[in-house]
Amino acid sequence: MAVVDTLGRPLRNLRISVTDRCNLRCHYCMPEDEYVWLPRESVLSFEEIGHLADLLAEHGVDRVRLTGGEPLLRRNLPDLVAALAGRSWLRDFALTTNGVLLADVAADLRRAGLQRLTVSLDTLRRDRFRRLTRMDALPDVLEGLEAARRAGFEALKLDSVITRGDNDDELCDLVDFAKAIGAEVRFIEYMDVGGATHWRPDAVVSRREMLETLTARFGSLRPIEESSSAPAARFQLADGTTIGIISSTTQPFCRSCDRARLTADGVLLLCLYAQHGTDLRRPLRAGASPSTLRRLIQAVWESRADRGAEERLAVRERGSYIPIAVLKKDAHLEMHTRGG
Ligand code: SAM
Repeated sequence: MAVVDTLGRPLRNLRISVTDRCNLRCHYCMPEDEYVWLPRESVLSFEEIGHLADLLAEHGVDRVRLTGGEPLLRRNLPDLVAALAGRSWLRDFALTTNGVLLADVAADLRRAGLQRLTVSLDTLRRDRFRRLTRMDALPDVLEGLEAARRAGFEALKLDSVITRGDNDDELCDLVDFAKAIGAEVRFIEYMDVGGATHWRPDAVVSRREMLETLTARFGSLRPIEESSSAPAARFQLADGTTIGIISSTTQPFCRSCDRARLTADGVLLLCLYAQHGTDLRRPLRAGASPSTLRRLIQAVWESRADRGAEERLAVRERGSYIPIAVLKKDAHLEMHTRGG
C-alpha cells in the first residue's frame, strides 16, 4: 500500500548504501584523517537488502539507486544488481560511483541489469583531482567512463560538487567534457551535511552564480519544465546540450522529496539532515515477520515531517552541521554512511 507522509509526500525513491567505506577522501565529504567504520557483521547481506527493498516497495518504492561510501568496493556487487534488477516492482535502477574502479566492472554491472550510472567527477585536472580527493586517480575515472560507454550505459550523468576556489573555474570545461562523452553534467551546491566538517557559507557557489558563469560563456540557458521529483533543475543551452543544477543549499526542494535512504547496516533515514534513523536490521535479524516490518516502515513514513535543507536555510550563523566530536561517536551521521 502506497503511503504519504505528514506533508503529503509519497515514498518512491530508495537509496541503498552498500558500504560505508570509500577509496577517496573528497574534501567536502571525508576530509578527516580518521574515521570510525560500521562493524562488518552489521553490514546487510544481499539477501537482507533485497528483503528490505521488497518491503519498502510495498509502500511505493519503485526507483532504486545504489550508493555508499563507494559502492564498487562492495564485493560481488553485480550479484546484488542482478537480484534487484529482476524485481517486478522496479522501474528505475541506477548507481552512483566515483568511477575509480569502474573500468573493471562496468560491463558486469550492465549485464546484471543496471540501467543508469552517475559518476561523481569534480575536476578534469589531474593535480587538482589528487588534491581534492587525496588520490591520484583521474586517469582511472576517465577509463571507467569510457568502459561505461562501451558497456552500453547511454544516459551517463556526471555529478560535480562545486566549491569556491577549488573548481568553480571548471564549470564550462565540465559542460564541454560531458557533451564530448555524451553525458549530462549536474552541478551540486556544497551542502553542510554531516561529514562536511570544513563547510562555510562563502565556499558555496550558488545556483545563481553557476547560471551567471554558464550564461557568460554559452548564452542564455532555457529552463526545462519538468514535473518529476528529481533534485536537479535542468537547463538547455542554445546548442541543445542539457545540464542540471542541484541547489540543495540555496534553493532546497524538501517539499517534493520522496527519498528514503537505507544505510549499509540497515538504518532507514528519511532526510540527509536527519539526526536519527530507524534500525530495520535488528528486527529483521530477530525474526520479525514481514507484516511487522511493513507496519514499522509505514508508521515511520507516515510520521515523516523532515524538511532538513529548508530548516538549515533559516539558520543565521551557519557553519558545519554536526561537530566533529559528535560525528566521531556516530558513524550514521556521516554523509559517506548515509549515501549521498
Ligand atoms: N562514492 C560515490 C560517489 O562518489 O559518487 C557515492 C557516494 S558519495 C557520498 C555520493 C554523492 O554525495 C557524491 O556525488 C557527492 O557529490 C555527494 N556529496 C558528498 N558530500 C557532499 C557535500 N558536502 N555537499 C554536496 N554533495 C556532497
